[in-house]
Amino acid sequence: MTAQKEPSMLLQKQLLSDHFDALARAHEEGRKVVYTFVPGNLNELVRSFDLLPVLPEINALQSGMRKLSGGYITEAEKHGHSEDVCTYVKCDIGMLRRGNIGPTGKRLPPPDLLLLSYTGCFTFMKWFELLREEYDCPVAMLHVPYQSEGRIDPHQRQYIVDQLRSEVIPKLEAVSGRAFDEEKLREMLRLSARAEDDLVWALESAKHVPSPIDAYFAGVYYLGPIFSAFRGTEAAVEYYAALRREIEGRIAAGEGPVTPDGPMHGERYRLVVEGPPNWTSFREFWRMFYEEQAVVVASTYTKVGGLYDTGFRHDPDHPLETLADYCLGCYTNLGLPSRVALLERYIREYGADGFLINSVKSCNSFSVGQLLMLRQLEERTGVPGAFIESDLVDPRYFSAANIKNRIESYLQMLDQKRGAA
Ligand code: SF4
Repeated sequence: MTAQKEPSMLLQKQLLSDHFDALARAHEEGRKVVYTFVPGNLNELVRSFDLLPVLPEINALQSGMRKLSGGYITEAEKHGHSEDVCTYVKCDIGMLRRGNIGPTGKRLPPPDLLLLSYTGCFTFMKWFELLREEYDCPVAMLHVPYQSEGRIDPHQRQYIVDQLRSEVIPKLEAVSGRAFDEEKLREMLRLSARAEDDLVWALESAKHVPSPIDAYFAGVYYLGPIFSAFRGTEAAVEYYAALRREIEGRIAAGEGPVTPDGPMHGERYRLVVEGPPNWTSFREFWRMFYEEQAVVVASTYTKVGGLYDTGFRHDPDHPLETLADYCLGCYTNLGLPSRVALLERYIREYGADGFLINSVKSCNSFSVGQLLMLRQLEERTGVPGAFIESDLVDPRYFSAANIKNRIESYLQMLDQKRGAA
């Protein structure tokens, strides 16, 4: 059966597809391309030089959803990449080995610059070391220090601003042949802040009962434009305004989220989810929740490319400083105490009955410390948690029967707890 989609999901799909088309035409139109990562991406800065971003994680997850990633991962393993390596990396390397055809079937252009925003994940560095061997292009490195104390210290911000001035901007100027235009960057940051306001409104709409959105499974669609290539553009502002209108309509009608099998009727469980979703069986995974009338009201994965619901907005009056704060604040750049505090806040503020951790085999940036987080959250909130394991884009690590079994048992346990209360 064809999956039902909200109008905003179709708009999102069109935006991403247009971007892949633009990438396919980039070099024949004389446009330059920058490969960079989602957490800590400098989209406004990159686009202010009229450069086009390519985000390898987006390619990998899209390949996972289109059932292409398994073949790419096998290809990378044939070339010696270990089973333990992050599967996003292997998916990307396998895709490259097979001609660098992007998820929409169009060839991706080779990079003119590798912009390594080293934010919260050591694998990013190894990943671009591999790509550097493949491509004859410069590398710009932006080192983002870990936010270990739960706050941004002025010297950390300054450290990033200095790198932007001395390393990143000169390389963007050299690749694009344009001078840095601070006014243009400010204008883009203004647009970012507008889109971010509506995004936060959309995510926080899940505080309504029933929630008009699923903040994890539908949430990843909502995040698509702002986490990929559109932050700082008019297109993103229009997308988030349209999303907001759509959700307002559902709230007014007292409706729940739209699932791939149609509108969800009734809300029996409100859950918070920590960790990324599985992409290869995304629809099947989501169905395990909505069939039980379980809705995810908040998630941490939807903060991996920027944490806005704690108040941060891109600030056009301090263009480089605000980019620094954005990079420092991405979820996987936070220490464990900050992550636990955020989850605790979500459980309380969103009136959650439970929380679930999806521990993905590939990603240490997420999975390290998750069992400790589970225990601490249970102690602090009195809300019981569940723990499941899967992977991002390796279909060999999604055991549907096991996961379904765990989720069903967990929800039954929540029922019993309610009955006892
Ligand atoms: S380890 Fe996690 S954060 Fe790092 S590249 Fe892989 S999926 Fe991304």
